[in-house]
Amino acid sequence: EQHEIDQKIKDFIANIEAKNPNEPEFIQAVKEVAVTVIPFIATRPEYDGMKLLERMAEPERAIIFRVPWVDDKGEIQVNRGFRIQMNSAIGPYKGGIRFHPTVNLSVLKFLAFEQVFKNSLTTLPMGGGKGGSDFDPQGKSDMEVMRFCQSFMTELCKHIGPETDVPAGDIGVGAREIGYLFGQYKRIRNEFTGVLTGKGLAYGGSLIRPEATGFGVVYFTEQMLKTINQDIKGKIVTVSGFGNVSWGVIKKIEQLGGKTVTISGPDGYIYDEEGISGEKIDYLLELRATGNNRAEDYVKKYPNAKFFAGKRPWEVKCDIAIPSATQNELDLDDAKKLVANGCICVTEAANMPSTLEAINYFLENKVLFSPGKASNAGGVATSGLEMTQNSIRLNWTSEEVDARLKEIMIGIHKACRDYGKEEDGYVNYVKGANIAGFVKVAEAMLAQGVV
Ligand code: GLU
Repeated sequence: EQHEIDQKIKDFIANIEAKNPNEPEFIQAVKEVAVTVIPFIATRPEYDGMKLLERMAEPERAIIFRVPWVDDKGEIQVNRGFRIQMNSAIGPYKGGIRFHPTVNLSVLKFLAFEQVFKNSLTTLPMGGGKGGSDFDPQGKSDMEVMRFCQSFMTELCKHIGPETDVPAGDIGVGAREIGYLFGQYKRIRNEFTGVLTGKGLAYGGSLIRPEATGFGVVYFTEQMLKTINQDIKGKIVTVSGFGNVSWGVIKKIEQLGGKTVTISGPDGYIYDEEGISGEKIDYLLELRATGNNRAEDYVKKYPNAKFFAGKRPWEVKCDIAIPSATQNELDLDDAKKLVANGCICVTEAANMPSTLEAINYFLENKVLFSPGKASNAGGVATSGLEMTQNSIRLNWTSEEVDARLKEIMIGIHKACRDYGKEEDGYVNYVKGANIAGFVKVAEAMLAQGVV
């Protein structure tokens, strides 16, 4: 029996690898799901032979398009745009747009694949998708960013809509970019609709959306700690990145009495022994607004902090680690350092920040470990709440949105526990998240025929 399942996993992965050459990130994301979901499928006769996971690993549609624009010198630039419409079994495609030089088909397919499971976990009716461009916003003028966004949307608007596909932000796409994208959509289609989320408050955005991902991550962490009778109070936390996600994480950690001691950028990390709190947290927003992406600038403003060039914060002693930057930013060596230094909990805030080897190390060492698709789902969940508010043409208060967000995170934690609890009581959140996310999408696909 076990041998048969192992063979099924091997065959499935070999097929995915053969079908998707040169897509390492996508293959990594599918592997992580396959090893947990295939054994589960084997326990459900109604899923047998339905090729559910094979179908989920093939995008319903992948759109690749040219994005030409004119820079400030009057020169023509050409970027590549993408939108991966992965799965619409449980609702319109939903997922962010990433502008970063590392964007390619593999990265966006991995993100879109994870988004399907993540969105399912929120319990809201959202399918999964992801888009973006290899455009690098670093060092571009405001007008260049605007012209790029307008050109990007001129093509994208043919493929999206409030009942079809609802994009949002991701790395490199924040409130400014969403504004330009929305303006262009409205102009071309002559429609004022909730076609994007993460909008400004003045034109249909939701309170709490900017901090939602980070807040959700910390609510999830609270739930994990509760299973071992602990809480955030007094805990030392290491965080990577200094974007929207880290900012929300650090803010909520402070509110709950924990101490964040690191942030990082592509240049290295800073260690602030006194803790990143109060006005220092607001400074993170300023730092990001400079657009130069250097963590080192923090030390210029707060000279008691130390900067470690070219290094990652996982060598710092902590109770909780929250990777909040990008994919594969935490590898096996980092995992070993964290465990050796006494870290008890790793909550992923970025998408797939840990390598497969790092994840396995955490699981073997019974660290509380949550995959991004569960713990960072608060961002897209709050996007779902923004869609609801747009549909009913009402705005909820911060308290109302925050309460719903918290309730959703508690629900995701429970779903992960229900499917991920092992015989010795340890919760394998990777397994729990994958199976819980899979079941709802699988049920919808079964009901809808061979789609
Ligand atoms: N980019 C975010 C994520 O990775 C948010 C997506 C959304 O709000 O649609 O989940």
